[in-house]
Amino acid sequence: MIAPEELLASVEADVQQLYRHIDGVALANQARVLQAFHEYRVSEYHLRGTTGYGYGDAGRETLDAVWARVFQAEAALVRIQIVSGTHALAVCLFGLCQPGDSIVALGHPYDTLDQVIGITEATPGSLRSLGVSYHQVPFRGNPGVDCRMLAQSVGPDTRVVLLQRSRGYDWRPSLDLKTMGTLIKAVKDVNPETVVLVDNCYGEFVETREPPAVGADLVCGSLIKNPGGGIAPTGGYIAGKEALIKRVAGRLTAPGIGGEVGPSLDVLRLLYQGLYLAPHFVSEALKGAVLAARFFERLGYEVLPRFDAPRTDIVQGIKLGSPQKIVAFCRGIQKSSPVDAHVIPEIGALPGYEDGVVMAAGTFIQGASLELTADAPIREPYAVYLQGGLSKEYVRLGILEAYREMETLTTKD
Ligand SMILES: *Cc1c(COP(=O)(O)O)cnc(C)c1O
Repeated sequence: MIAPEELLASVEADVQQLYRHIDGVALANQARVLQAFHEYRVSEYHLRGTTGYGYGDAGRETLDAVWARVFQAEAALVRIQIVSGTHALAVCLFGLCQPGDSIVALGHPYDTLDQVIGITEATPGSLRSLGVSYHQVPFRGNPGVDCRMLAQSVGPDTRVVLLQRSRGYDWRPSLDLKTMGTLIKAVKDVNPETVVLVDNCYGEFVETREPPAVGADLVCGSLIKNPGGGIAPTGGYIAGKEALIKRVAGRLTAPGIGGEVGPSLDVLRLLYQGLYLAPHFVSEALKGAVLAARFFERLGYEVLPRFDAPRTDIVQGIKLGSPQKIVAFCRGIQKSSPVDAHVIPEIGALPGYEDGVVMAAGTFIQGASLELTADAPIREPYAVYLQGGLSKEYVRLGILEAYREMETLTTKD
C-alpha cells in the first residue's frame, strides 16, 4: 500500500487547479470587504469600544454598516451579545413570529433548532408552545422538485421560510446561491409577505455573493465561524432588510431599545480585523477541505462533497462507517491541534443536540470552527464532519494524524 505521506503529495497535485479557483473567490470577497471599509471610512477611533449601555458607539454602528454592505443587505446587527449562531437564529424566529403564524423549513434545520422551534415536541418556551406551527419540506437537492414542494407548503399564514445554506450535520448537499435565488422566488410568488430567513453558518465567503443578493430577507450566523476570521472571540450577526432588522433588534434587547444599545467593550478591533481577514481564512479552510476530500476518497471512503464538486460551505463530510472510526478520526484531529492536544475526545451529550456527539476542537477560541475542528453525531451513516483550519498546512498535518489514528484501530481489531 502507498504510504500516507506519498499519497498526500500525490493528492496535492490533484487539487492545484481547484486551489486557483478558491483563490479567485477569496480575491473577489476580499475586494468587497475592503471597499466597504473604505466606503464607511473605518478609522482608528472605531476600533475602540464602549461600556455600560453602549450609547453612541461609533465603532459598533460603523461595523454594522460595513457588515451590511459586505453581506449585500440594507442593515445589520453585529453583536457580542449574540452568543452563538443558534441564538442569532432564535432572535430572528422569536422576533418575527406571533401566535397563529407558521414556519416552513426546507430540510431538517440544524440540530440545535429542534428545541427553539419545538420540532419534536412543544417544549416550554419553544415557538411551538407559543402557538407557532411548523412544517418541514423534505430537501431533495433537486431545484425543480424543491421549488414545487416549497411553494405548495407556503400559505397566507407562513411568516417565515427557513433555508439553511450549509449541510450542518446532515449527509446532504449544501445550498448554492443560484438555487437559493430560485427557491426564494418560488416562495415570494405565493406569498410576498413571507420572510425568507437564511441560516448562513459556514457559508460566508465561500461564494462571491451572500444570500441577500439573491433575495433573502434576513441572514444570520456566528462570529466564531467564517465571518469572524478566526479572530473574533465571540458574537453573532443578523443582516437583511432594514425594517426586519429593527424588529428583531427589539427581540435581542427590548422593544423600543433595539439596536441602539449594546456595549462593544474591548473587542471591536478583533471584529473588524476578523472580518477583514475572513475571506482569506475561509479560502484556507476550503483548500483544506478539498485536500481532505481527495485524500479520504483515494483511501476508499465516500465523501460529501466530492473533492472537485462546487462548494457552498466549508464543511467536509467523510463517511467512516463506524463509531470507532469516528472517535479515532477525532482523536487524530485533536492530537494535531495547537491547544489541548493531549486531551482525548469522547462521545458526550451537548446541550441542544439529541444524539451523542464527539468533537475535536483544540482551538484558541472555545468551539471556534473556522479553526480546524471535526464533529460527528453518533448516528447513521456514521459520518464525520470536518471544517475549518486557518492554514491549509495545518489541515494537512491534521488529516494525516486522523488517518494514523484510524490505522491503529484496524491493525488492533
Ligand atoms: C453551527 C451551526 C449552527 C449553530 O451555531 P452555534 O453557533 O453552534 O449555535 C446553525 N446552523 C448551522 C448550519 C451551523 O453550522
